[in-house]
Amino acid sequence: MGEANRRNIHQQALKYAEDCNIVYDTALRRVKAFAKARQQIRAASKCPGCNRHTLFIESTDYEFQSNESWVQCSECDKTFDISTRYKALHSWFNFDVVMAIQIEKDKPWLGDWDEFALNDTIELEKELKIRGGARNE
Ligand SMILES: [Zn+2]
Repeated sequence: MGEANRRNIHQQALKYAEDCNIVYDTALRRVKAFAKARQQIRAASKCPGCNRHTLFIESTDYEFQSNESWVQCSECDKTFDISTRYKALHSWFNFDVVMAIQIEKDKPWLGDWDEFALNDTIELEKELKIRGGARNE
């Protein structure tokens, strides 16, 4: 990791810690984890048909019908079956629950907010297969 990049990550983590009202160490781990999530989303979005990063998940979303989903390319319109290879394309994949709760929060959090953020970060790192809290990258 270059010096400029390191500074950038540090700045992002400081801002994230402030925005989400969590400790810097957890914020840094989350910033790194979401950067990795974006890489995985980009990798998963590569279309085997046209090689562009244009795949997305499409679904029938009617209330009284079975809900079917598939992967589709916005460029060449090819479709593919949902598989683990496309896991990163799901909208929940890089959903930031800590940020979402912090934005909605209009009353004090019941319980230890830092602990909640840390536990969610650990789950996130497991999901993204980041070892040792991304400290050695
Ligand atoms: Zn395509």
